[in-house]
Amino acid sequence: MNLDHQDYELIERARRAIIPNYDGVNYMHTVGAALRTSSGGVYVGVNVYSLHGACAEQIALGNAITAGERTFSVIVAVAGEQGETILAPCGNCRQILAYYMPDAEVILPGADGPFKAKANDLLPWAYEVK
Ligand SMILES: [Zn+2]
Repeated sequence: MNLDHQDYELIERARRAIIPNYDGVNYMHTVGAALRTSSGGVYVGVNVYSLHGACAEQIALGNAITAGERTFSVIVAVAGEQGETILAPCGNCRQILAYYMPDAEVILPGADGPFKAKANDLLPWAYEVK
């Protein structure tokens, strides 16, 4: 799926989350994420580093959930001092996205530029929380 102007705006919001908080030396805050809700709200986050991390996508999702949001439409993560690199979600995030927003879209890096795919399609046969 191709990106629209709101998707590029979301990428910019992710960049604006990481640029002022980038820290590649001490706390390794190197990724920013932005999440658009179904109602159009945008929540952002940067990664919190540890052995098992808390990825920027998870922080953005936690921010949205904390604000009472429960339905989501698009998420993106970017890396680098200028947030110049779009990142595909890691395996753990794919599991989280499959659980919280299976029908949402994820902006991914592509050889011909960014594109979108459904979160559920990023992790076939995902573990189902019962
Ligand atoms: Zn992740």
